[in-house]
Amino acid sequence: MIAEHWIDVTNLPAHGREFFFEDDTFWQAVWAEFNADYVISGPFAAKVTICPQPEGILLRGVLQGTILATCHRCAEAAKLDILQDFDTFEAYEDVDTLEGEEVYLRSTDRGWTLNIGALLREELLLALPEKILCASNCLGLCPLCGKNRNEESCQCSSSDSQSPLARALRGITIKNN
Ligand SMILES: [Zn+2]
Ligand SMILES: [Zn+2]
Repeated sequence: MIAEHWIDVTNLPAHGREFFFEDDTFWQAVWAEFNADYVISGPFAAKVTICPQPEGILLRGVLQGTILATCHRCAEAAKLDILQDFDTFEAYEDVDTLEGEEVYLRSTDRGWTLNIGALLREELLLALPEKILCASNCLGLCPLCGKNRNEESCQCSSSDSQSPLARALRGITIKNN
């Protein structure tokens, strides 16, 4: 289910109008579409100034807060500090011409509305690191026994149990990202 949050951007004052989004339920609804498990940890807010232009609307803002997400290596909670400035233009003419690209504006009988939920969701995606880690040196789960190697060491990596290939690879530094 797509959570949509539209705001009316018809007849904005020439100097623009500020919008604030700081309600946890707003964010949870907006993120529901990620199929992700982001949890707000502390205040999370967006401030957006929307200025009308002859050809579209200009959006300038900042997304700031702390969320918890799942570490890609160990599956424990990873704390992410988000600070994303954005400055983007949504053109009226794109609404009917761009195919396959997400368009956030929609024309209505009275003017224009903007899918601010989708736009802010996109900005958060841009702010997230490619690989979410609880710590840069997270050791992850043992691929053999599944133990969290940050919490306890297992015997799986002792030389006795390693395959000949694994023994041969020992001492070779593999880029670990
Ligand atoms: Zn981790
Ligand atoms: Zn193990």
